Amino acid sequence: MSENAKQHAREACEYDVIVVGAGFGGLYALHKLRSEGYSVRVLEAGEAIGGTWYWNRYPGARCDIESFQYSYSFSDEIQQEWEWSELYAAQPEILRYINYVADKLDLRRDIELNTQVVAATFDDIEKKWHVVTRAGELLVAPFCVMASGCLSVPLSLSLKGLEAFEGQVYRTFNWPEGGVDLAGKRVGLIGTGSSGIQATPRLAEQADHLTVFQRTPNFSIPAHNRKMEQKYARDWKKAYRERRLQALETKSLILLNAGLKPGSAVTREERQEEFEARWAVGGFGFMNMFTDISTNKEVNDHVAEFVRSKIVEIVRDPVTADKLCPKDYPIGSKRICVDTDYFQTFNRPNVKLVDIQTDPIVTVTPTGVRTQSAEHQFNVLVLATGFDAMTGAMLRIDITGVGGQKLKDKWAEGPRTYLGMAISGFPNMFLITGPGSPSVLSNMVTAVELHVDWIAKCIAYLKQNEYVAVEAEHQAEEKWVARVNELGNGTLIPKGKNSWYMGANVPGKPRVILPFLGGAANYAKICEEIANDRYSGFRFI
Ligand code: FAD
Ligand code: NAP
Repeated sequence: MSENAKQHAREACEYDVIVVGAGFGGLYALHKLRSEGYSVRVLEAGEAIGGTWYWNRYPGARCDIESFQYSYSFSDEIQQEWEWSELYAAQPEILRYINYVADKLDLRRDIELNTQVVAATFDDIEKKWHVVTRAGELLVAPFCVMASGCLSVPLSLSLKGLEAFEGQVYRTFNWPEGGVDLAGKRVGLIGTGSSGIQATPRLAEQADHLTVFQRTPNFSIPAHNRKMEQKYARDWKKAYRERRLQALETKSLILLNAGLKPGSAVTREERQEEFEARWAVGGFGFMNMFTDISTNKEVNDHVAEFVRSKIVEIVRDPVTADKLCPKDYPIGSKRICVDTDYFQTFNRPNVKLVDIQTDPIVTVTPTGVRTQSAEHQFNVLVLATGFDAMTGAMLRIDITGVGGQKLKDKWAEGPRTYLGMAISGFPNMFLITGPGSPSVLSNMVTAVELHVDWIAKCIAYLKQNEYVAVEAEHQAEEKWVARVNELGNGTLIPKGKNSWYMGANVPGKPRVILPFLGGAANYAKICEEIANDRYSGFRFI
């Protein structure tokens, strides 16, 4: 596209591609598609770029995949130039990295901040998407890339009495920039998922007293985070190319030294040795030590028993330790957590655990929280209560496809996609890491790159063949949804308690398996084969 044409497109609010969201996904989509000559506009609801890493600024927020892997792989220059200071970078560092990438690639000029997309309608005659923002601006483009995030819509918790609380209420999802001074404060934290588990030790250090309200105890593996060692960094940088390629061959797109044997093929003593060795290393490698942890109940029970034994070993008060032990769901069926000193924090004299399964919250009062058996006084309440995952951001936009079909109607019984990237009846709209893709079970930065690259190739194919639109075929989508369900039902995931993998954390949300459980490497191969097979399952117009 010539400079003149680009200028014209901007004045008329017409672009080749509109991208929704400026997190890892939207930023790479902008870079990739712009490099291929398209005019691209990114619309971001937030005041700044970064997505997850702009919003979630709570104390303790950090990635749980090593930073050398949880980062873009598309540019070796960026890989070589950026220096990570810790094995698992904290949120401020990840946000600095994202901003560094945006500056290096001159991305900001095509990003509109403070711009929430509220509607998108496909004009079937023009074959273009009409995208409307909250301010009423209309943008038009043949293609729409939804990089709106899998974990970007916080759950709105309806907690009785919350509005009457006289102290401060903070959410981990949008913790104030600049932080909160908790010195001398009595803090109550609700939620013990990854966010709550990361925040607990830091809140306990800063506050006068911390009470953690736990509904479901979680399995958590120690991160063993540390300052980056120079030799470790040098080795990574030297071997980056081959390590990234190796990671693409794994089911999670992460190099974790995955075990090749099923746990069922070794003795309990051998398993125990492996458990100890993996616990000492820490991180997600623990869940990748055997190939059958997510499918074989006996092996899964054994792994769970080991983690419980560690909790009991770490936490000195036996009653608290027992409450912290997850007992009634398989390990890995809820998203596994990776922590720094989570269980140890309950040994501090200023930390208390309240099990709200046995002692439910009755109401928030002006001065704290009343459970069935006690009054708890607080100055500050922290909500770490999770997200409307994988479908929340898409369904908050009024999306209308061919023939006036609404996405919210199509997805009323659960999301239906082809490859987690396209939706039948919604041509030229692509999802980044959508439901039906393995995204959330993998290194999401790499998952985002795979999707963006695939989408760019698909659009290039469409252009080369002088088509104007591409759409998933209904049959192909149906088969894909059936495959996602079948794969999921072959695992222990559906047994997860209130798991967001199943939509089960959101009252009223359909209970269906959201991610593809066939492994990310297999999935990437399927996507590649489909592209090589002239996009089988897609209809070009
Ligand atoms: P996001 O980063 O969520 O960005 C989506 C953007 O879209 C947001 O900025 C949002 O404001 C914007 N948006 C949404 N709807 C609209 C709209 N209607 N109009 C305009 N803008 C809109 N994954 C890992 O693999 N490893 C980790 O260690 C890890 N840690 C995480 C820690 C936290 C606290 C959370 C919440 C998630 C974590 N994740 C992790 C998942 C994480 O979301 C992804 O890794 C990744 O950052 C997603 O990037 P994204 O661009 O797809 O989405
Ligand atoms: P989450 O895992 O869904 O945890 C939400 C917590 O809030 C759960 O403990 C839940 O209890 C509790 N809760 C929800 N509603 C409640 C209610 N009405 N009353 C009491 N408790 C309630 O959410 P999250 O911790 O924000 O994590 C979401 C995902 O983001 C993670 O799984 C992970 O993928 C990603 N993440 C990653 C990291 C990281 O380590 N890098 C950090 C944060 C987030 P129940 O379990 O009983 O529902």
